[in-house]
Amino acid sequence: MSSATTTVINPATEEVLRTVERLDVAAVDDAVARARDAQRRWARRAPAERAAALRDFAAAVDAHVGELAALEVANSGHPIGAAEWEAGHVRDVLQYYSASPERLSGRQIPVAGGLNVTFHEPLGVVGVITPWNFPMPIAAWGFAPALAAGNAVLVKPAEWTPLTTLRIAELAAESGLDPDLFQVLSGQGSVVGERFVTHPDIRKVVFTGSTEVGTQVMAGAARQVKRVTLELGGKSANIVFDDCDLERAAATAPYGVFDNAGQDCCARSRILVQRSVYDRFMELLEPAVAGVVVGDPAQRETEMGPLVSKAHLASVAAYVPDDAPVAFRGSAPSGAGFWFPPTVLTPDRSARTVTEEIFGPVVVVLPFDDEADAIALANDTEYGLSGSIWTDNLSRALRVSRAVEAGNLSVNSHSSVRYSTPFGGFKRSGLGRELGPDAPEHFTETKNVFFAITESE
Ligand code: NAD
Repeated sequence: MSSATTTVINPATEEVLRTVERLDVAAVDDAVARARDAQRRWARRAPAERAAALRDFAAAVDAHVGELAALEVANSGHPIGAAEWEAGHVRDVLQYYSASPERLSGRQIPVAGGLNVTFHEPLGVVGVITPWNFPMPIAAWGFAPALAAGNAVLVKPAEWTPLTTLRIAELAAESGLDPDLFQVLSGQGSVVGERFVTHPDIRKVVFTGSTEVGTQVMAGAARQVKRVTLELGGKSANIVFDDCDLERAAATAPYGVFDNAGQDCCARSRILVQRSVYDRFMELLEPAVAGVVVGDPAQRETEMGPLVSKAHLASVAAYVPDDAPVAFRGSAPSGAGFWFPPTVLTPDRSARTVTEEIFGPVVVVLPFDDEADAIALANDTEYGLSGSIWTDNLSRALRVSRAVEAGNLSVNSHSSVRYSTPFGGFKRSGLGRELGPDAPEHFTETKNVFFAITESE
């Protein structure tokens, strides 16, 4: 086993929290071998027993929501209220999929000469690779339905933010789940993550992260015809029509993009506003942005914390040079920590800030002329993850929501994620869907068996 470590830092204070092991390829291979054995034992257990084990895991998370949230505040800088929601979401996702072992069933299909049935067989060992922006929820979207479908799961958290995922693995073991069945392997993407892709006994990789690394994962997986689910980047539109409740659209727009300091794949980072109400919208948006409470994530009133790291802060800041077209910006603490204020830009349609995912608290506002122009502008991106449509005209809401090329849209709201509904992207935002009732099936192979019936004697 490698003795190398990663130093984990509190992004609000720059204090060192802990060092975490960087596992090597041999450690991954050993984990896979143990996971294979554990998976066979798990799949043989009665569905009701597997359901009960997942409920116990959910209960263990529930009993530690406060602890997990505090750890995420320290490691990721998420405001405490948001971190509590994230830990509670892990419990909810586990509870939701704990029903699946007893409900995941095949079909009996009428054929001549016998009985034809399909079975959903578990894949075996599944690898889940997560990004640093929402460590807990994104891990759970992979491991909960995969375990429910009878698989073993290995999770590789992002280097900067492994602490809550490691703690969840301890809670799983404390709840009675076989520690070899669900393992969290810390380390580098280029070592642990890449081994998930190349190891022949990992039958599926669920990858959430950048489009750049996602394409490498897909290319590597293709060599073994390995299944992949990809949840990648976004540059989502928040489309504001002149017939909407403009006050509400402006008041909620900061939440739509600055949630988690803009480090959100679903961030509505392009606000498109109908020209006839553009000036009024900007008048309303300015105080809403100034009102975003940025600061110590451990304080209840805080709405936005720091960026995750010094390197990421530099990457975000590079999009806002001194001559950037800043319309207005909010506040941010000075001193220790990786702070960047909520920032509103009014660039040309072709600017880099309009086309590239910044993944920070920076939003562009662009005017549009009519519905056709709004749709064309919304779709003028390589991404297609989410988006919002603000209108009080039901026909327009339906027309535009069908025309926008994105996987998760909301009308008069910025809501993107519910564990009971499917989530995923169009175009270069990803491949496949997570969550919702069908997710366990995505961790199975469909097997068809025909039983011949002999003619009566
Ligand atoms: P990243 O692509 O740099 O890293 C993601 C994960 O992949 C990390 O765990 C990393 O260690 C690992 N990794 C790196 N190189 C690898 C390799 N060669 N093989 C296998 N794994 C490797 O992304 P990030 O910076 O951690 O996260 C930010 C990105 O994630 C943004 O683009 C964001 O939009 C995206 N994201 C998407 C969703 C979604 O659901 N669509 C959700 C959250 C984040």
